[in-house]
Order: sequence, then structure tokens, then C-alpha cells
Amino acid sequence: MKKTLLSSLSKKDLFSFIETLGEPKFRAEQIWEWVYQKKVHSFEKMENLPKALREKLCESFSFSSLTLIKKADSEDGETVKFLWELPDGKRVESVLIISGIRRTVCVSSQVGCPAACAFCASGKMGFFRNLSSAEIYDQVLGIDSILKEKGERVSHVVYMGMGEPFKNYDNVLESIRLITSEDRLGLADRRITVSTVGVIEGIEKLSNEGLKVNLVLSLHAPNQMIRKKIIPYARKYPLEDILKAMDQYHRKTGRDITYEYTLLQGINDHPDHAFELSNLLKGKQCTVNLIPYNPIPGMRLSRPSGKEIKAFRSVLYGCRINNTCRYTKGVDIAAACGQLAYQDAKFGISS
Ligand code: SF4
Repeated sequence: MKKTLLSSLSKKDLFSFIETLGEPKFRAEQIWEWVYQKKVHSFEKMENLPKALREKLCESFSFSSLTLIKKADSEDGETVKFLWELPDGKRVESVLIISGIRRTVCVSSQVGCPAACAFCASGKMGFFRNLSSAEIYDQVLGIDSILKEKGERVSHVVYMGMGEPFKNYDNVLESIRLITSEDRLGLADRRITVSTVGVIEGIEKLSNEGLKVNLVLSLHAPNQMIRKKIIPYARKYPLEDILKAMDQYHRKTGRDITYEYTLLQGINDHPDHAFELSNLLKGKQCTVNLIPYNPIPGMRLSRPSGKEIKAFRSVLYGCRINNTCRYTKGVDIAAACGQLAYQDAKFGISS
């Protein structure tokens, strides 16, 4: 018998199910408390339920839509990659980034990605399908359960794994509602970050949801011409219109905006590009997050040298543009930005 995913049930659904079994209503309350307050994901451990009911629940429900296939720790212990199998056999990855007391989970929102950015391994895979809200939520829940064994919890969630979140808008939004719901993980919306390559309708919709979610634009170029060369979606979404939508998001939600900029040698890393970028973002309350390109075998792109990165950053500093440089984490397990689909060599999968 195919099991129902417990997390897909509302409290009302659970009450109805318990009623159909002829059990008293308080049993549903007990189950809800075990799952969403005590975060127990095993019916056997629900000691105050009768054995017969626990068995019935085991037969009817599963706790996750995902099966953990493999877990890989980076050498520095700061990045852990999780490979999950979905009910249809497709596979996606999530990454746990450990930094001080922060436990950030980077989730995938699609299998593959339709955006096909030139520098990204997920884009090179092609697009297979959207993840359901449960499949996104279960990535966070699964990692939270693992952390819980060490007395830790997920503190932040970023939608920066495989996929363009706004091309799966409804399921991504529903997963945010699950992550922030007091009955579920109860994470504050301010601890959630969504990254988009510039899907304007998604930016506009999210600004009207009443959420204080952080927004990141994968900018990667100082002008529309270079952007079009490395991001096919740029042909549909002009840079000027994207920036207007980002400004509007900032005005409506009060959240600061981050612009991600992957530094690609000889393409967008010249000091002139840094000047152009500074002019583009002048007067905006924002941060530029520079990401020196993470090499992906088979792609003819290179990372700028340390000296070139320094020169780029000094122009930004000179123009008073807040910037950070995200040095690569987790390259040894192919978990760094843009490498998520380059998993075959590490895990032997094909989606
Ligand atoms: S960078 Fe993001 S939007 Fe572009 S192909 Fe990769 S996953 Fe998709």
C-alpha cells in the first residue's frame, strides 16, 4: 500500500483520519505534538500511543518524501552535502553550511534548471521537473532531524541549490510557509533567503506576500550585453526592469538586497566592469557578494587570480559599494555554488 506523506496532512486532515479509525480525538493532538513540537519522526517512539495505533500509523504514513542516499562531509567540516532520492527515482542535493553558530541549509527547488546559465552545472543538466512543496520542505526537515541528534538546529534556509525558485513559485512559497509555520519548523521569515536569476514576475509576487524574506539577485554582469552572453534568461528579462523590481521589493518589505556576482576571468572581472557595476548600483542599499568562479570540469571558464579579484574589489570599495567575497566552500565534495549537478563523479547518479 502506498503511504501518505504525513507532512502533507493539515491538522484537520489528521483529526479526520483518527476519527475514521474510531480513536478518540486527543490521539490526533498527541501525534501532532510528537511530530511538530517534539520533532519525533518515528511512530515507534510515540510512547503514549497504543501499540495497535502506532502500527496502523506506520502502515499508512511516511515521514518524508525523500530518501537519503548519501552524505558527504567536506575536509574542513564546514560543508555537508546530502543526496536525496525522490519518489520517482530522480535525485536532488541539499547542502548544509556550518559557520559559527549558524546552520544554513541550501535547498534545491527543481530537478535540473531551465535557466541554463553558462557557468552553472545545474543549468548544464537541463530541466526535469519542479519539486513539490513537501520535497523542498523535507530537505530542511531531514537535515534538521540529523542536526537535532547533536543538539543543533537549522538556523537559516537559502533557496540557492538546483533550480530557479521563481519558476516553481507556488511550491516554493508553500515550502516557505511550512518552514515558517509555528506548527512545523517555526523558522523566522527573516532567516530565509530566496535567490533568483531575475524572474521579474516572481520578484513582484513575493513582494506582495507579506513576508520578510531576503532576496538575492544573481546579477553576474555589469550590463545587459554581458548578462545576455552568460544568462539566457536575460534575453527575456532586461536588467533595467529587474533592478526596478528589486528596488520595489526593498521598498515594500524593508529587506536589504544582495547582488551575487560570479567573477569569470576575462568576461566580467576587469576593473572597468567594477566601475560599471558601481554605477549600476549607486545609491542602492545593497551588498555585492562576489563569488570567484568554482571550476566545473568540461566548462571553458576560469576563475580570476587573487590579484585580479583584489583589483576588482578595490574599485568597489573606492565607489563605496558594500561587498563581500565568498571564498569557495565545499569544493572537495562538489557542493560549492554552481556545482550541484556535477554529482556523477562523486555519487554516481544520473537524474
Ligand atoms: S545559476 Fe541558478 S538559475 Fe542559473 S542555471 Fe544555475 S541553478 Fe539555474
